[in-house]
Amino acid sequence: MKVYKFGGASVRSAEGVKNLKYIVEDERGGLFIIVSAMGKTTNALEVVIDHFMAGRKDEATNEFAAVEAYHATIIAGLFEGGKTPAAVQKLYDEVRATIARETPTERDFEKWYDALVSYGELISTTIISEYLNSAGVCNKWVDMRRAFVTDDKFKYANVDMKASGERLRAVVAEGAADGIEIFVGQGFIGATPKGETTTLGREGSDYSAAVVASVLDAESVAIWKDVIGVLNADPKIFPESTFIPELTYLDAVELAFSGAQIIHPKTIKPLQNKNIPLHVRPFGDKFASGSVIRGEIAAPIEVPILILKRGQVLMQIRPRDYSFVLEEKLGDIFAVLEQFNTKVNLVQTSAISMSLSIDRTRRLDELVKALEGHEFFVTYDEGMEMLTIRGYTEPYLERYSRVPGIFLAQRTRKILRLVRKETV
Ligand code: ASP
Ligand code: MG
Repeated sequence: MKVYKFGGASVRSAEGVKNLKYIVEDERGGLFIIVSAMGKTTNALEVVIDHFMAGRKDEATNEFAAVEAYHATIIAGLFEGGKTPAAVQKLYDEVRATIARETPTERDFEKWYDALVSYGELISTTIISEYLNSAGVCNKWVDMRRAFVTDDKFKYANVDMKASGERLRAVVAEGAADGIEIFVGQGFIGATPKGETTTLGREGSDYSAAVVASVLDAESVAIWKDVIGVLNADPKIFPESTFIPELTYLDAVELAFSGAQIIHPKTIKPLQNKNIPLHVRPFGDKFASGSVIRGEIAAPIEVPILILKRGQVLMQIRPRDYSFVLEEKLGDIFAVLEQFNTKVNLVQTSAISMSLSIDRTRRLDELVKALEGHEFFVTYDEGMEMLTIRGYTEPYLERYSRVPGIFLAQRTRKILRLVRKETV
């Protein structure tokens, strides 16, 4: 079994879906395809949900009509006569009926969010599965709400690997008994044991693909993207970027943590546990091998890797009473950060103070107040960015850190992190 994942950008048009068919049509010996919602559908559905939650049923329905219209343009390019397949129409009807029937309460926002936003993936996979079947690529549509068992942390659900493994293996065995070799399932979604739909966090489809691969003991996973593979730096920011053919799981985790947007950070663990290689392959070039991420690589990466994470807030925290035992207060600080779901990207402590680079948050004021409530004195700078250089060399050190405007530098033998004012 192999697992392929296609993101929203790849399937944003009829041409994209046709290219997906071209990539998968000759696959034999078991292929599980995980697909995201088409284009920017998830964002569009979030707008529908905002209206729905606020009781604006007409606006919600109108926004959803725009989602349907967008899919209609794709359907027109795929099916004879441009007719909406009945299975897709059924999904549209379910969303419209929910909007018309239900009066949601804010308390259940996350639950409603999952119940509705999941239709992006349900619609995309239904269109793709029907199209592949109509074009002679025989496949089975898998309802991941019946395959992925999760907890009830709506919007950020955790997958129960054991229970999901049992269900997924049963689905595949049943398909295989009917001679099915290709399966098409949704990324990003699952359901609680009670059958309530959940989602795994934005951009969670990569993670879905990794979990499917892990529980099915797949030989490999490929994420098809609009890049040639993994680069050492974002070419839009660093013109001198180069292609990296091979990297380790550890490299990939470090990259994802530092803000490289190649793969979702949660993706690596399930694969590493089973030593399943992860390929990052160019959607536009079926025969190019792209980059591979795995446990052992032939030679360590030679080039330094540069990752720029924007939208940082650099925060200084020190106990009000000038207590010199900051260690005793670390627990308090992290408990508050945790309470506000703060993403901490860098920590540096001195005798009496702690500096943190955190993701910008809408609740910054509240966060600061909460820290002050614990007898801390807090100052911060907004509009910062963090540059990480993994495997830096002397010339890089010279060029990036020995320049004015660095607010904070942190250096280990391998990694250099610099926090500075945002450059653009
Ligand atoms: N469609 C979801 C999102 O846009 C999941 C994904 O694409 O990975 O966040
Ligand atoms: Mg995506």
